[in-house]
Amino acid sequence: MKISEILARKKTLSFEIFPPKREDETFTLISETIKNMDAWSPDFISVTYGALGNTLSNTTRIARHIRENSKAEPLAHLTCVASTTSKVDEVCSELKEYGVENLLTLRGDMPRNTEGPVLSDFRHASDMARYITWKWNGVFAMAGACYPEKHPEAPNLSTDIEYMKIKQDAGMEFFNSQLFFDNEVFYHFLLKARKAGVTVPIIPGIMPVTNYAQLDRMIQITGCNVPLKLRNYFDRYKDDKEAIEEIGLIFTSYQILDLIANDVDGIHIYSMNKSGFINKLMQNISYVADKFFR
Ligand code: FAD
Repeated sequence: MKISEILARKKTLSFEIFPPKREDETFTLISETIKNMDAWSPDFISVTYGALGNTLSNTTRIARHIRENSKAEPLAHLTCVASTTSKVDEVCSELKEYGVENLLTLRGDMPRNTEGPVLSDFRHASDMARYITWKWNGVFAMAGACYPEKHPEAPNLSTDIEYMKIKQDAGMEFFNSQLFFDNEVFYHFLLKARKAGVTVPIIPGIMPVTNYAQLDRMIQITGCNVPLKLRNYFDRYKDDKEAIEEIGLIFTSYQILDLIANDVDGIHIYSMNKSGFINKLMQNISYVADKFFR
């Protein structure tokens, strides 16, 4: 089923996973992690592409596994940087054959350390979305990425939101957001996007913080703002793994409860393939979550 159809009738719960590099880890992902996540009845599970040097075939293979073994819909990520129309067609054809109906269309990060221009048939995610709408009309529901604190390359948030509207016009039927730790930032962004004419669902992306180094890495990659409270807690317990995990669990639980109380379109959790932590998190918010995602 198309995720846009699900979003038209309910709030969605979803998890992001990434294809591991090693086969034994992929086996664990398939035989344990996804099964554990299924216990929380997610509406969809998204599978990244390209992160950590994974191959596309792993993304399609895992998306297919979800399609065939889980009640959740798979959302396959697809990047277009350094790609061609024929490569995109190849992937779309494979996904169609597997019955995967949902695509997260992305540009991807520009490759580093390459000399000269990066050759690609598409410049932006919206160019690929326009192509897929034309070539694969109606086969896929497409989603896009959005950035509550602006994309690092965008000159400012307003310009980035103008491009978000272009993505919507190119056929993207909902958005998954970049992670953020300050809900106020997301609410302001949502207001701005709605004022700019973005009408499709915008699902906040939540990254549970479970260790100190990970928080710093996230700030570096995304440039996201960290509330002073969280930073202070983390600094205070820097060397205490258990304490950091407990704080992360409570912080993320509260962040999600606050988003639910503000009636967002859904909750998308960057699981980092850690179903144990997801279990604790979902148990923590189970009463409110049950009512919200029903
Ligand atoms: P675009 O929409 O092309 O935007 C890139 C930049 O160009 C932005 O600054 C934007 O303001 C600007 N822009 C957009 N459209 C236009 C236009 N029409 N004209 C001029 N400027 C424009 N990366 C991976 O490699 N694999 C993944 O699986 C993956 N999953 C992700 C999932 C989510 C939810 C998010 C938020 C990001 C993910 N990323 C992933 C990272 C993403 O690929 C990078 O952030 C990338 O740099 C931008 O991708 P995009 O699709 O937003 O690009």
